[in-house]
Parts: sequence; C-alpha cells; structure tokens
Amino acid sequence: MKAYVLEGIDQLEYKDVETPESREGFALVEVKAVGICGSDIPRIFETGTYHFPTIPGHEFAGVVKEVYDEEYKELVGERVGVFPLIPCRECSPCQEGKYELCRNYNYLGSRCDGGFAEYVLVPIWNLLPLPDTVSFQEAAMLEPASVARHGLSQIGEENILGKTVCIFGPGTIGLLMAQWAGIFGADKVLLVGTKEGQKDLAAKLGFTLFCNSKTEDVQEFLKANTDGEGPDIVVEGVGNDSVLSECLKAVKPGGSILLVGNPHGDVNLEKAVFWQILRKQLKLYGTWNSSYFGGMESDWTKTVEAIEEDRLKPAEQITHELEFERLKDGLNIMRERKEFCNKVMITR
Ligand SMILES: [Zn+2]
Ligand SMILES: [Zn+2]
Repeated sequence: MKAYVLEGIDQLEYKDVETPESREGFALVEVKAVGICGSDIPRIFETGTYHFPTIPGHEFAGVVKEVYDEEYKELVGERVGVFPLIPCRECSPCQEGKYELCRNYNYLGSRCDGGFAEYVLVPIWNLLPLPDTVSFQEAAMLEPASVARHGLSQIGEENILGKTVCIFGPGTIGLLMAQWAGIFGADKVLLVGTKEGQKDLAAKLGFTLFCNSKTEDVQEFLKANTDGEGPDIVVEGVGNDSVLSECLKAVKPGGSILLVGNPHGDVNLEKAVFWQILRKQLKLYGTWNSSYFGGMESDWTKTVEAIEEDRLKPAEQITHELEFERLKDGLNIMRERKEFCNKVMITR
C-alpha cells in the first residue's frame, strides 16, 4: 500500500509499504478521508513522535476491508469512524472508564501507525459504524468535534444553557466548540481571533460576534456585548500567557474558564491577573481528549447523532480538500499559513 511514513523529524516519505495483516481483535480499515490536525505539524516537522518509522494521521474514517475474527465478520464493508486512542485498560482512570485519561495508552497516528495511508489496522472496539447520512469527511472530523464537545462537557451542558460563551482562538476546535455551545443552548457566542478568514468562516456558521484582536480592543468588545458584565464562560483555545490573561480579565465574576489550547512554552501570569482568579471566585477547567465507550453513549456517539440531525456541521469548516497524493501540499498549507485554512481534509 501507499503511505506517508515519518522516518525522522521533517522526514515524511511517500512510499510503498507492506499492507498490515489483520489479526485477532483487529480490523483492516481502508482510509477514505483523513484530516490534518494542528498537532500533526509540530509532530512531523519539529518534535517528531514516539518512535520512527510511524505513519501519522489520527483523524480518519473509512471502510472495513478485512476482519480476522469470525464473530466480527459482519463488519466487513461497514463505513466507520475511528476512535484513535487505544487504552491500556489496566490503569486506574481506565478502570473507571475514563479512557481519555489513560496513563499508558497507544494512539493511532502518533504512537502507532495511523491514517496517512491506504489502510490502517484498528482494534474492533475503536470502530464506530456510521449512519449513511454521515459522510467520510464528516466522520474524519469526529475526533476534533468530540474533543470540542468533551471540553464544554467539563463545564456541563446544563451550565451553558442561556449563558454567554466567549471563545479565544477560533481554529478547528474553537469553531467546533462554538457550534456545540450553540447546540447546548448558549444565549450568545462571542469569538476572539486574529484573522479575517476566521471572521468570514464564523459568519458562515452563524457566529457574527467576532473580534479581531489585532485591530480591535478585546475587552471593550466583550463588555459591549455583555452589558459591561463580561462573558459567563471563557474558553482559552490558544495556549499562551497573553490570551489567558485576556480571558481572566474578561470573564464575569463567578464565571468559568476552560483551558483547551495546547501551550507552546511556559505560561506566566502577572500578579494582578492571577488575583482575578481569587477575587472573582473563578472556576478553572482543563480538558483532554474525548470520551468513548465503543457503541455506548459518549462524546463520540453524541457527535455522530448531532451530525446526523444536522445540528453540528463539521464539514462546513473544511476549507481545503485534497487528494491523497497531495497530502504534503496540505501539510504545507497548514505549516506556512500563507492562505487561510481551518480544516485541511484529504480524501481518496
Ligand atoms: Zn488532533
Ligand atoms: Zn489505562
């Protein structure tokens, strides 16, 4: 099969490799769509991954081609989404069913081979059969869409109803969170970004309250749109000190901050900003991965439902769709940022 194999930092080779053989408990999935994640860029070009060679790509969907076990043979030909995390099932979070917090997990596309290939070997448990109305492109966005849902779930769906939610960093996850905030009944969704492309895409999704922090005063914008009170819930979707400071300054007293942006360096706070956490009695939430329990109710099944019911529209965030042979062009679009992109999707 053809695959993009990461053989070292900045050494992604498009080449022929042996197609994996299906074995007990696993299925061979033919990849039909794979999204490029923001995290793939440093993984491929800067930091590398856990070992080489590894085939990256953790946001993918496809068709089951082969199954080893007799009892699962009916899965052959099934269209599936793929939960990329393979839990150890032994550590204490796993024992509690919190697989997203597993201490010793395997992961398709970073710790073992993933979806930048024609075929991927996936544990049966990680396959989520898809309704006919969910496209492969949409299914390849189940991972970021579930991560976005999982984030807001930390605060609780019931605590978002009727509230004002502000999202700093309207990238893929940020805009998906805006969509979920709407689904959860937020009264108002405010977005703070840095690009006009983000503003246009947000408007297309129905979010017109956008502040470009490069040209506008963020605090003034947030006050103007919340009767001077500040948003009830603020999402830090960037991962740096200046954005976190803005979040802490903006949030309403008694409000909540959700930290979701991956930091690229140390995050320091000025004393006066730190004081805000105490004096405003803020609630700080962290979030990691998403919940998944096979076919049982989880962020993943809820995300499939929301797409099926046309409430969540992840495919609207696909700004680039490229053929498998052009995957490296897709990586470069995301790396160079010369043109605006939200989700770069690869299909075959
Ligand atoms: Zn990702
Ligand atoms: Zn575990």
